[in-house]
Amino acid sequence: MTDNGRSPWLLGGAIALGTAILALVGWGQVKPVEVPWPLRWTHAPVLFAAVDSELSGPLEEALELWRKNTTHRVRLARPGETVDVVVHVDPALDVLGRASVQSRAGKILTVSIAVRPRPTLPVLLQEIGHSLGYGHPIAAPSGHIMRSSDPGSRDWRGLEGGDPSSVG
Ligand SMILES: [Zn+2]
Repeated sequence: MTDNGRSPWLLGGAIALGTAILALVGWGQVKPVEVPWPLRWTHAPVLFAAVDSELSGPLEEALELWRKNTTHRVRLARPGETVDVVVHVDPALDVLGRASVQSRAGKILTVSIAVRPRPTLPVLLQEIGHSLGYGHPIAAPSGHIMRSSDPGSRDWRGLEGGDPSSVG
């Protein structure tokens, strides 16, 4: 008699391996992410201004996500308000984005963000994070806001008030 079906032993092994992989992936989505936060503003909220008008829309979208996913009340500055973070486009920038943070004794004084033209949402999200004083987490999972390479827009773990359920 020929056996056309898979051996129950192999099948059982495959199911066990699959379960183990799912458990690992599941753990990866719920385990804490430690985001270094060495620098802080002394006041809140932090007011942003886009130097280039085409940046205003994307920047507002990114700030809205920060407000939605964390307790940071960051927003665009209104006319006459003192700006904390200035964002401008630099076509010659050697990286996708850079936040230059001026601080004294761990307190942030002022920040200037430079981005390449038409920055992606993850680039803006991460530079906003740097302007709030956050660094890159060690061994951040793929898609994390503050992951140094290939950041995403949905994993906010380790950021103040970051909602673990927003991972997806
Ligand atoms: Zn970064």
